[in-house]
Order: sequence, then C-alpha cells, then structure tokens
Amino acid sequence: MDHNLPPLIRDVPVAGLRGLLEGLGAAPYRGDQLAGWLYARDAAAWDEMTDLPADLREILAARWDLDGLTVRDRQVSQDGTRKHLFSLRDGHAIESVTIPMEQHLTFCISSQVGCAMACSFCATARGGLVRNLGAGEIVEQVLRLRRDAALETVPGCADRAFNLVFMGMGEPLDNFDALAQAIDTFTSPAGLGMSPRRITVSTSGHPAGMRRLLDLPQGVGLTVSVNGTDPALRRRLMPVPGRTPLPEVLDLAQEYARRRQRRVTIAYVLIDAVNDGDPEAAALAKLVRGRPFKVNLIPMNRIDERFGPPDAARLLGFQDVLRRAGVEAYIRISGGDDIAAACGQLREKHAGKDR
Ligand code: SAH
Repeated sequence: MDHNLPPLIRDVPVAGLRGLLEGLGAAPYRGDQLAGWLYARDAAAWDEMTDLPADLREILAARWDLDGLTVRDRQVSQDGTRKHLFSLRDGHAIESVTIPMEQHLTFCISSQVGCAMACSFCATARGGLVRNLGAGEIVEQVLRLRRDAALETVPGCADRAFNLVFMGMGEPLDNFDALAQAIDTFTSPAGLGMSPRRITVSTSGHPAGMRRLLDLPQGVGLTVSVNGTDPALRRRLMPVPGRTPLPEVLDLAQEYARRRQRRVTIAYVLIDAVNDGDPEAAALAKLVRGRPFKVNLIPMNRIDERFGPPDAARLLGFQDVLRRAGVEAYIRISGGDDIAAACGQLREKHAGKDR
C-alpha cells in the first residue's frame, strides 16, 4: 500500500464510527448518520451527506478517502453474468463478478490482488500474490456491484437481496483480519445488515484460517476446494494447499458444519484426464461419505491449452459414482466463460495491457 494515501473511511469498523466522530468533536449520533451514508445509502461523494454539518464533512474528506475502487471496465456475458474490473488507488486491479441465479444475484468478490496458492489450473495464480485487500476494498466491491444491479436490473431477478461468495481472486483465509472485518460490516445492522447465511467463504484448505473462521461470531458458509484426493496429485494441482493433509482439512470442515449447523460444500474442479476418472470419484466418495458435506463438481474452465474439461458423459459418470456411494453431488457450470468471468478465469488484468 502507498503510505501517502489517506485511509479509506470504510476501513473503519462500523462499530468504530461513533468513536471516530466523537474524536473529531462531533456528537456520537453523527457516527450513525455516517454509517447510513456509507452503507445503506452508499453516497458517491462527501457532499451528498447533507445532514452532516459542512465543516464536519470537510474534516472527514481531508482525512479519509471515500472511494478505494474505480470502475475500469464492465463486461456482460451472453448468460447475463457481469464482470467488473476495478482499479485500486495504488494502480493495481481486481475483478468481481455478478452472477444471476434463479431468484437472486450472487456477488463473487476478491480478497487479494493475485493469489499465493499457485494452483496450476487457475488464472489468478499466474501473477502470484501482489497484496492483500483491505476491509474497505472488500466491502466496496459489494457496494459497487449493488449500485450496478440497481441501475440495470437483471431480467428474472426481482429480488433485491443478494448472496455473497468469497470466490474471486485470492485466498480469503490468507487475509483473515480484513475478511473478518468485512464480514462484520456485511452483517452489522448499521452496515449492510446481511444474514451470515447469505455469505460463503471459499478456501483452498487453510487449516489455521479455518480454525479462526470457527471462532468468528458470524456463522458464514464454508466451501473447501479439494480438486484432488491423492496427496501427490493434489500437491501438483494445488502446490501450497497440497502440503496440508486433506484429512485434517476435512476434519476441520466437519467440525465447522457441526458447530454452524450448516453443511459444508466440497468444490471439485474436473479436469480432463487428470482427476476425472472413476477411481478418483470413488476416492472422493470415500473421503466425504457420511459427513455433513455436499459436493459441487465444476467442469474446468479453460485458461490455456494445458487443461480442459471432461466431456458430458465423463461429468455424469463421475457424478454417478458419487451418488451411488450416497454422496450428494451436483454439477455446477460456472457462467461468464465468454468474458473470462468463470471460476478460475479472474486475474489482475489492466485495461489495454494484458499481463
Ligand atoms: N482460494 C479460494 C477462493 C477462490 S474460489 C479457493 O480456492 O477456494 C475459486 C474456485 O474456482 C475454487 O474452487 C477453484 O478450485 C476453482 N477454480 C480455479 N480455477 C478453475 C478453473 N480453471 N475452472 C474451474 N474452476 C476453477
């Protein structure tokens, strides 16, 4: 982060806004008003906050930045998926995706610029980790996508409520403090007032982070990206998370489901001739059977010539092995492939300059 930049006002925890305004000599209720402008009303400029005294707005504007994200590009897929490219104040960029579901929208947001997990099938891994996002930058993605959805509603999505998935760029549990604070802003009544049940954190299998997530007051959902059960194969596909024994990760996931009273999703990207055989399906079934899990099978989205998805018959065959073993398994086609917005296709792209 450029240390000459003023902090983002949305980096301040919602519960800290009263104290912040008191520190500036204002009455505490001004903090509640400010929270309303930042989250419920999503003010585009300090001057919009007309019920705050002008001199107070001036002090705030001098010390804090209201916006950490600038929309650099917006693409709409044939299937209705929308992708935003945002630039950050230090010139880096992130992508966030709006996915129309049957009744609602799902916002898929990023937790880091790049990613350190080095998964061989994922485009985000290509540039490595650039930096963590701050809580304000995480929260602002949601506000921008919400603003976009209000301007142009998605056909069939009358419901204004949205779900939130930490399945964009980065490993959210590797940026735990910002993740936890963003979740607090999402769920606080003075923030976005979301139910934690509408939020899902996806991890490549980060035991220390999973333990911390277990202690979070908000019972958000959990997805674990497994992608391979054989240790050597998993390490090859997911070098960093592959070093953690999968049984330990799945035990933690089971503990999570038990404590939250909510099933954990196991994500498995199916890659043609790599991890999509019946023996792999049987091994996966053995690991998850009898546990409070369900499995989402994601056909690999292409990012280069190296890996591709299995054909439809193989997808169904893999699913069938799981189902016969008593495991609930769904095939999930991720949308937005035509605009590189599907799972695994997000990266730190710069407008007009591909990295
Ligand atoms: N780092 C976290 C959050 C990112 S979620 C995690 O790994 O869970 C992104 C999801 O997309 C993960 O489940 C990942 O396994 C999957 N994915 C990555 N590359 C993909 C690709 N090329 N095609 C389909 N899914 C992919």
